Amino acid sequence: EAKASGGASHAFFEPRMMRGKRDQLELLQDLRRALSLKQLELYYQPKIHAPSGEITGAEALLRWNHPTRGMVSPGIFIPMAERYGLITQLGSWVIDEACRQAREWRDLGLRLKVAINLSAHQLRQPSLASEIADALNTHQINPDLITCEITETSAMEDVATTVRVLGQLDALGVHISIDDFGTGHSSLSYLRTLPADELKIDRSFVLDLETSEDARKVALAVVNLAKALDLKVVAEGVETEGQNRILRDMGCDQLQGYLFAKPMSAKAIALWAMEDEGPRAMAFRASVFKP
Ligand code: C2E
Ligand code: MG
Ligand code: MG
Ligand code: MG
Repeated sequence: EAKASGGASHAFFEPRMMRGKRDQLELLQDLRRALSLKQLELYYQPKIHAPSGEITGAEALLRWNHPTRGMVSPGIFIPMAERYGLITQLGSWVIDEACRQAREWRDLGLRLKVAINLSAHQLRQPSLASEIADALNTHQINPDLITCEITETSAMEDVATTVRVLGQLDALGVHISIDDFGTGHSSLSYLRTLPADELKIDRSFVLDLETSEDARKVALAVVNLAKALDLKVVAEGVETEGQNRILRDMGCDQLQGYLFAKPMSAKAIALWAMEDEGPRAMAFRASVFKP
């Protein structure tokens, strides 16, 4: 049932390719202009409903198409944006763009939910909830279409703020997901108080499922914890059939990873989601590929 990736694979400009201070400064200058030069784009990776194999939604992942370096990995520019105060601006663009995309897909008749990644810095912005409310309102979409992903580590940075802000997001009606779960040492009593809907098992545990008894134990513990707290559980980074089978047997609700698809452009994922759907897909393909 695994489909081939719909996205072209890009050779990323990776963290290990950074050469000293000069590179850093140059890249920072370029990043300041990237938004206005329209070099940023959201890619989308399908989230698969484990029992049915259907695509239920997609995670929005930021891409920077740099004019000379090519695609720059978010592993480089997200931390840079956080450090130099650019993340608020980038984050606001992501929120608006993801909501615009959710609306466009809805208008095409696709039922695709969209997950947005939020950084710790965004959680500390008092305007976050109203910004999300504005975007929902501008694009006239149901909050049920949007999930906010917050890493376990950033959720733990300032517990009081997290509880307050997630409460505001919950009141808006958007879903809340705790990302990279298992890497951030959260206390269980505290986790219970968060209005979260979903835990995402970190890729590092998924990676070792077939070879490490410990990784299997941790993954199963996360699944059981999620069930006990009435949360959905998603596995990220699923690359092999073996991992897929183990995670399904454990009772994971959703799966994400290269086995199903790599992150891809909005158009590519719309085509992917429409596969085998007849006339509507034909019309969309015609509109996308018109000369
Ligand atoms: P994340 O939120 O945990 O996203 C999952 C990452 O794993 C993505 O990397 C995705 O491409 C990658 N991935 C998914 N499936 C597989 C797989 O099967 N194998 C492997 N090896 N990798 C897989 P990406 O796109 O490079 O993003 C890295 C991180 O950058 C994200 O981790 C997220 O923390 C951050 N990020 C990306 N976009 C945004 C954004 O718009 N805002 C913020 N604040 N952070 C973002
Ligand atoms: Mg994420
Ligand atoms: Mg993740
Ligand atoms: Mg991760």
